Amino acid sequence: MKKQLTALFTLLLLAPSVHAEDSDATRLLKQRSAQLEPLITQVSPSVYCASGYSPANIGMIVGTDGLVIVDTGMFPAHAKAVLKEFRKISELPIKAIILTHGHGDHTGGTATFAEDGDRKPAIYARSPFNSEGGSFKSAGVFINGLRGARQGGFRLPPEKRINNGIAPAVYPPKDRNVFLGTPPVPTDTFRDGRKKISVAGLEIELVAATGETADQLYVWFPKERVVFTGDNFYQSWPNLYAIRGTDYRDVQAWIRSLDLMLADKPAHVVPGHTRPLVGEQRTVEVFTNYRDAIEHVFVQTVAGINQGLTPDELVAYVQLPERFKKLDYLREYYGNIEWGVRAIFSGYLGWFDGNPTHLFSLPPADEAKQMVKLAGGERALRKVAADALKENNAQWCAELCDHLLALHPNDQTVRTLKAEALESLAEKLITATGRNYYLTVAQELRKPAIKPTPKQ
Ligand SMILES: [Zn+2]
Repeated sequence: MKKQLTALFTLLLLAPSVHAEDSDATRLLKQRSAQLEPLITQVSPSVYCASGYSPANIGMIVGTDGLVIVDTGMFPAHAKAVLKEFRKISELPIKAIILTHGHGDHTGGTATFAEDGDRKPAIYARSPFNSEGGSFKSAGVFINGLRGARQGGFRLPPEKRINNGIAPAVYPPKDRNVFLGTPPVPTDTFRDGRKKISVAGLEIELVAATGETADQLYVWFPKERVVFTGDNFYQSWPNLYAIRGTDYRDVQAWIRSLDLMLADKPAHVVPGHTRPLVGEQRTVEVFTNYRDAIEHVFVQTVAGINQGLTPDELVAYVQLPERFKKLDYLREYYGNIEWGVRAIFSGYLGWFDGNPTHLFSLPPADEAKQMVKLAGGERALRKVAADALKENNAQWCAELCDHLLALHPNDQTVRTLKAEALESLAEKLITATGRNYYLTVAQELRKPAIKPTPKQ
């Protein structure tokens, strides 16, 4: 009996932490974790992909007398772990490092690879390299550091994080600010079109591919028909807008970049994140659907814009066709369709939604006073907010809490109620970045406010 109980207990410990009460979104996100485990994949005879060692993938092409590394991971420790694995495959010196764009999750391990041998490798990138980070810096905008930490879940305890949708849930070393760090300096850059390079006995093409960022490139290795996509492709609905705050990510250019990759007729794909695609049939099928789904959302959004819909109306108007909804690699694990729709609107039309009521909206505290009046007093408004949560309308609860907090930002009862509402919203959201953001702000709200904090 004791033995049986021990066996049962062991089984329970080993079972994935899926709970009966999990929402569908939570269940799906938990299932994702299995394919975010560290793995080295041989994609083609000379190409390898290290996924799951770092949030972003690290690629390697083995040449006749050297190696080419594509992207370097987020932190030196990740790069070291991958280099150790790659060294089991080849002892050849690293001749070149190619950075698909300037984001820190793809460039943070550059020094580790660059300093591996006696001679420093060339570092290829597209100019203006790290344009996104550069524009924040030159304007003096740094709130994206805080918003990025919320989106990344870096301030949450491990038990509140599942994964980041397209990446394992890692923590940065204490001394590193992931979103405000200084990227490496490339030695060779190009701006537009296609740059052919010969290195390590390999013929490789770097192709300008604006999309997720304006400095994005993809790497084309024609001999084995492998494309390294950077962040213009991974197995999830793409992050057409990052809630940490970004410039407009040119969705039309993104689609054109996918067209360019497809026109090269790739047989295998090393994405910026998530596992590679191996085999021509799968590659073409996934790529075509991915491209078409983004185009559908773009075209629908523009159609709605031209009908005069506001962003709040557009998000209900734009729907992904059923045939795309079923595909796991288009699920909103990382990007979210609604956020993309809003980004397209503001990318073309800016902040004004077209409704003149919103040309000069009431300041939040004035609006709150009117809401209190309408509800029949503050106590009544508090009750409606609390009831909304009990009735499973967490969004309405949060919105009413905002009115109350506009009048009393330090009211701990309301702060806690809003925290509960955000936790409820997080549980039902599949998009990891949004979940992290909800849960981090909930955590902030549960602590008493010491000084005015940025908008919660
Ligand atoms: Zn990335």
